Amino acid sequence: MNQTIDRNQIEQLVRNALRGGGPSATPATGKSASAGGISPPGWIDGQPNLRVSISARHVHLTDEHVETLFGAGSVLEPDKDLYQDGFYAAKQTVMVVGPRRRMLPNVRVLGPTRNFSQVELALTDSISLGIDAPIRHSGKIEGTPGCVLVGPAGTVQLDQGVIRAARHVHMNFSDADHFGVKNGDMMQLKIKSHDCSVVFEDVLVRADEAAKLEVHIDTDEGNACNLDAACEVELRKDDCNCKH
Ligand SMILES: [Zn+2]
Repeated sequence: MNQTIDRNQIEQLVRNALRGGGPSATPATGKSASAGGISPPGWIDGQPNLRVSISARHVHLTDEHVETLFGAGSVLEPDKDLYQDGFYAAKQTVMVVGPRRRMLPNVRVLGPTRNFSQVELALTDSISLGIDAPIRHSGKIEGTPGCVLVGPAGTVQLDQGVIRAARHVHMNFSDADHFGVKNGDMMQLKIKSHDCSVVFEDVLVRADEAAKLEVHIDTDEGNACNLDAACEVELRKDDCNCKH
């Protein structure tokens, strides 16, 4: 799609403009990538290009729940591509309803659909909903609280699936080699920001072949360090259990 290509080109231009002064950990080496070499996904000039993104509250849905909420035959309509290839924010939103009729309107649905529905909130969201959502990694929803989802065509009662998504970093295997980590390891993320720098521990590595290097934190975590105004981000192996 032309639109997608244009957006990628714009993103690339913005990233290039930010390098050196913006919230990118890529050192300015002055060297360009070797001609003809195939770069791993997301790499720029032969280096990993770290991106830190706030994952705002959102919902993942099954095909069946999409039809219940938006009408028979409905499918998710991609609105905005996410940085990770193949993932998108859909045009559709739902209302998330907690106990005592407290609710969050217009919660974005992310695609593609999954085998189970899941609601990912920041702590502030879960307090305003009145749901005690535990911190879990995506997909680990056994024993978590449920909620009611309301769409234009119907409602879905989720018995479980409301979580605060644990901070994590997506990366491909070249990124993993670069940092000396493997899938399931923990890393540390340092965010330098005026008067509110933070170090996040317990950043889980989620490595697969196609991923681009990207940390996902929630809105509360991003706001705590004013991520948009951050001047430096650094990702490193958590070596507290180092056996060397
Ligand atoms: Zn993620």
